[in-house]
Amino acid sequence: MSDKQWQLSPSQFSQVQQCGYRYLLKMSGAPALPVGGAAVLGLVLHGILETHAHRPFADVESFEQEWQQQISKQEQRLAANPVTAALVPLARSVRNYAVKKAALRRSIIGSMPPQRVEHLLPSFVSTGLPKAETKLGIEIELGKEGRITGRADLIRRFAGGIEIVDYKTGRFAASNGGSLPVAKPEYAQQLQLYAAMYQAETGHWPARGLLLGLASGEVTVSFEPTECLGLLKQANELLNTLEEAAMAGTGSALARPAPEICRLCSYRPNCSPYLSLLSLAGGVLGSDVMGQLNSSRPRSNRLNLSVATETGPVSIQAVGGAVGRLAAEAADGLGKRVAVFGVRQTPGTRTFTAGPTTVIYTVDEDLITI
Ligand code: SF4
Repeated sequence: MSDKQWQLSPSQFSQVQQCGYRYLLKMSGAPALPVGGAAVLGLVLHGILETHAHRPFADVESFEQEWQQQISKQEQRLAANPVTAALVPLARSVRNYAVKKAALRRSIIGSMPPQRVEHLLPSFVSTGLPKAETKLGIEIELGKEGRITGRADLIRRFAGGIEIVDYKTGRFAASNGGSLPVAKPEYAQQLQLYAAMYQAETGHWPARGLLLGLASGEVTVSFEPTECLGLLKQANELLNTLEEAAMAGTGSALARPAPEICRLCSYRPNCSPYLSLLSLAGGVLGSDVMGQLNSSRPRSNRLNLSVATETGPVSIQAVGGAVGRLAAEAADGLGKRVAVFGVRQTPGTRTFTAGPTTVIYTVDEDLITI
């Protein structure tokens, strides 16, 4: 890993705070689980917002054209990989595809009067700062030469000064018990880090951050300089710790295996602390199952797997586009200890259903330490 560039982006910071080992596995090139359809649709939604910010859609037709183009691009990429091919078409594999698309279209051009469209557009109204001393626009790179680096979706002027905007396609607001929603802490930190990086490059503090949702919601984030600078210092220190651990070969000591943290981590198949946790849990944890693969019965467009876990037998059923690939992966693992990632349990039963991106790995026994 010595030739890698050690950099951390504001959007990675919270995840790495939760578990540093995830970052080290990524840096080491460990294979990752495939992203799900919802994450791919999120990329499309984000891409549409960016396009709109560069070149506002004039009508529904131009929105539809761009939508189709971006969806096709993602679907071609997914289809080229056997592990993600079953996600195509996204309209069928992603829950609430039509609802999310309609919400975005409504936010951008739907029933909004023309002036409201401005809420998703960059605004470069002058507020007094010399242009040379500001970085304004879409996809603004901050901290380019440093170790904490990233791109802010949009930096613009508003009546109160400079504003850093981050588009969010999922839930970004939380409640702190008050009447108004607040930004989720991880997203607030992300904007606070951008604010400190912006100040380091321009000498000016932005007046506020703004999380902007596709379904018209928005939440502001205030910037307190001491807090923002403290976060930037923490991010640098965290990166130093990660680099030192990698050099010393003690990276796994930074792992924080816990169901609520690991369930969203793509590096579960190669994470020894997680596989040990899965074993300790008896072979069933969240959306993963581990045990001896006793049988694999492919039948036309169906596949039935029987896995003997430490807490009893489990049945896994697959239907649809991923069946052929899963049958081949199961053939490799027959009679061995396997881990099946990304299955959904039928409540109250020992039966699981495989999804389009479920993957079967033959377990490397050296990775289980208990
Ligand atoms: S699986 Fe869990 S413990 Fe392992 S790297 Fe991912 S988040 Fe960390």
